[in-house]
Amino acid sequence: MSSAVDVIRTKRDGGTLSDEQIRWFLDSYTNGDVADEQASALLMAIVWRGLSPAELATWTQTMIDSGVRLDLSGVGRPTVDKHSTGGVGDKVSLPLVPLVAACGAAVPQLSGRGLGHTGGTLDKLESIKGWRADLSADEVRKQLATVGCVVCAAGDDLAPADRKLYALRDVTATVESIPLIASSIMSKKIAEGTEALVLDVKVGAGAFLPNIDDARRLAETMVEIGTRAGVRTSALLTDMEYPLGRAAGNALEVAESLDVLRGGGPTDLLEVTLALADEMLRLAGLTADPREALVDGRALQVWNEFVRAQGGDPDAPLPVAEHQVVVRASKSGYMQNLNARSVGVAAWRLGAGRARKEDPVSATAGVICLAKPGDYVSEGEPVLELHADDKARFADAEAALVGSFAIGDAEPEPRPAIHARIS
Ligand code: URA
Repeated sequence: MSSAVDVIRTKRDGGTLSDEQIRWFLDSYTNGDVADEQASALLMAIVWRGLSPAELATWTQTMIDSGVRLDLSGVGRPTVDKHSTGGVGDKVSLPLVPLVAACGAAVPQLSGRGLGHTGGTLDKLESIKGWRADLSADEVRKQLATVGCVVCAAGDDLAPADRKLYALRDVTATVESIPLIASSIMSKKIAEGTEALVLDVKVGAGAFLPNIDDARRLAETMVEIGTRAGVRTSALLTDMEYPLGRAAGNALEVAESLDVLRGGGPTDLLEVTLALADEMLRLAGLTADPREALVDGRALQVWNEFVRAQGGDPDAPLPVAEHQVVVRASKSGYMQNLNARSVGVAAWRLGAGRARKEDPVSATAGVICLAKPGDYVSEGEPVLELHADDKARFADAEAALVGSFAIGDAEPEPRPAIHARIS
């Protein structure tokens, strides 16, 4: 029998926790026998001391075992999912999930809601009339077998230990720890029951971890956790210095995703979507070419089936904000940069994101980047278009954008969309 104080002291002093100590502590915290202040102390000790690969494997497995692990063995296709660490304008899941399903895989994407300056996939999809995020495990399995993809809310029984710990980390400044982030993400993804997983780890101003070395360490840690747990896992480090594509905001991002599914869309978004699709199909052991599925309309067809299967009307017009305001170029020249975080904060202040889990989000609010780095703009030309139903929101959003871009004479070096692959 362990004692919470012994476990905390061991980690505080740089020691290694036994499997028994980790299991006992996490189980006792989940069922209320270990207090929040004790769990906070252990989390802070882990922020400073870290977890060894063996400790991390047990920590993650215990969080998985705190709830159910979906059994997807009967869906009749190889299962593969993608998880992104989140970014501004990161709507990649929307075109990617039906695209990969159209190529023969089953994609079970169980997702959380967006918090802070990056939007959540469920919030984006909920801007489609009638679309619902809550499905039972049986509905998930049935839809995977018929349509080939699901995007839905993760139930309360998926890694409940992580749910409780994440809420505590949020209020104790213990989110920023690579082993804690990696185990939190991977426990939920492994519990989802997928056989393979591709991680999209964002790098740059709008990313959760802006620095490439931190992003790489996070990616390597998550790949190791997944592989140890028997899930074929790899990661791409992708750029998030600028918003991805041109739209940030729920319905605005659905519209841009539809452009991709119709064979168009911005090149950076298309490039990241196809790179992730290639990687997912490779891990799933499938050889279909996702480019063909975009061009011949199969991906769009699966999108329509997926939206309908979850109660949505794919033909209904997307909602549009009542008011638009533009930010103009103060001089002529090339856009040098566009800070993704500033655009994310502006979209959030316009109503596209939430500060607390229970806050509502606006389907229509957001920002369209009419010009992106490398584009030439003339003095007075609109660069950013802000959308909101509530006019009172514009002033704060515009304040977030002050200094977010620069215009200069020289054409800037393009940034790569994909920085590295880790497997
Ligand atoms: N997302 C998660 O699910 N967990 C973390 O710890 C950080 C981001």
